[in-house]
Amino acid sequence: MQDGVIDFLVKILQRESITPNECGIFDLVKNELDDFKSIYLDKNGVKNIFLYKDFSKNNKPKFHLCFGGHVDVVPSGNGWDYHPFGGVIDNGIIYSRGVADMKGGIASFIYAIKNIKDFSGILSILLTSDEEGDGIYGTKIMLEHLKNINLLPDFALVAEPTSNKTLGDVVKIGRRGSINGKLKIQGKQGHVAYPNKFINPIDLITPILPRLSNVLLDNGDDNFLASRLVITNISAGIGVVNVTPNDLEIMFNVRNNPLTTQDTLKKYLDSVFNNLPYSLELKQSSYPFITDSKILIESIRYAIKDITGICCSLDTGGGTSDARYFSNFGIDVIEFGLLNESIHAINENAKVDEILKLRDIFKVFIEQMENSIE
Ligand SMILES: [Zn+2]
Repeated sequence: MQDGVIDFLVKILQRESITPNECGIFDLVKNELDDFKSIYLDKNGVKNIFLYKDFSKNNKPKFHLCFGGHVDVVPSGNGWDYHPFGGVIDNGIIYSRGVADMKGGIASFIYAIKNIKDFSGILSILLTSDEEGDGIYGTKIMLEHLKNINLLPDFALVAEPTSNKTLGDVVKIGRRGSINGKLKIQGKQGHVAYPNKFINPIDLITPILPRLSNVLLDNGDDNFLASRLVITNISAGIGVVNVTPNDLEIMFNVRNNPLTTQDTLKKYLDSVFNNLPYSLELKQSSYPFITDSKILIESIRYAIKDITGICCSLDTGGGTSDARYFSNFGIDVIEFGLLNESIHAINENAKVDEILKLRDIFKVFIEQMENSIE
C-alpha cells in the first residue's frame, strides 16, 4: 500500500543535506507528525530534532521507544546516471544519494508511526544532521539533553541499512569499538656503508612484525568476531638510499570486542617489544557494546519474519554508528534497515517495494513491543 511514504521520501531526497546540513527536512518531518511535541537542538552548525508523543491513557506511559536516524548524507561524487538529488524512480527503484543511508529508513519509521493508533507508551524520533561527520554535536548532545529533562527512551531502533543480501537478513545488536594506535621505535641514523655503527629501526621491527601485522588479539565470542590488529601505515627513512632511518612509525587500528581493551592491547604490545625502545599512543574513538534486551530482539525478529518470511541473523560487524551513543546512555538499542550494497556509492538506490516492506516491518515491530511489555 502506498500511503504517501514514497512521496515523502522523494521530497526529503531532493534536499541536498550534505553533513552537517538538514536543508529543512526537520520541518517536513514535523509536518508529518504534527501532533508530536518537538525539541530542536543546534550546536556548532549541527542540527538535531527530537519529536515525541505520549500515547498512553492518563499520561502513564509503560515504556518509551525511540527511532533514531541521520538526515545528513555524504557528497554524491561524479558519474551518476541520475540526478543524485533528484529522487528519480526508474522501474521500481529509487536512485538518490541517501536513499539507503538512511532517508529510506527514516521515511519508513515515520510512516509506521503515523499508522499506530493504540499504544500505551511514548513513541519518539531522534534525528541528527551529523552522523557522517564527527558526530560530536549530534545524537549524543540530544541524548544528554533528554537525560537532563528526564525523557531518555528505554529502547531504541536506529534504522541504518543493516541488510546484506535481502531485506531482513541482518539485524545489528551491537558494534565493535575502535582503537587507533601509533607506535614509534627509536634507532640511530647513520651512513648506509657502516650499518653496524648505527641502529636501524627497520632491523629492529623485522623479526617482530609477524606478531603485529594482521594478528588476532583474542578469540572473539558468540556475538563478536576476534579483535584484529591492522597496520595502516609504516614510515621510516628520509627518502634517500645512503642514509639509514633514525626512527620508524607504525599506525594501526583495532576494531575491538569487549575481550580486548586499551589495557590488554598495551600489555600485548609490551610483551612483543620486550626491551626494544618504543613508545605508544592509543586512542579509543568508540567502545564496543552489545544489546541483551530479548524484547527488542524478539520483536524485530518477529516483525521481519511476519512481513518478509525471513529469519534474520544477529550481527555486530561493520563500522561504528550512532547506536553507540544510545548504548552509552544505558538505552537498549538495535539497528535494522535497508540493504547496504550501494551506500556511499555512485547510483545509491533502494527498491520502492522494500521501503514499503520496511515501513510494515517497523509497524509490526512497534505493535510487538507493545504486546511484549507488561
Ligand atoms: Zn548511515
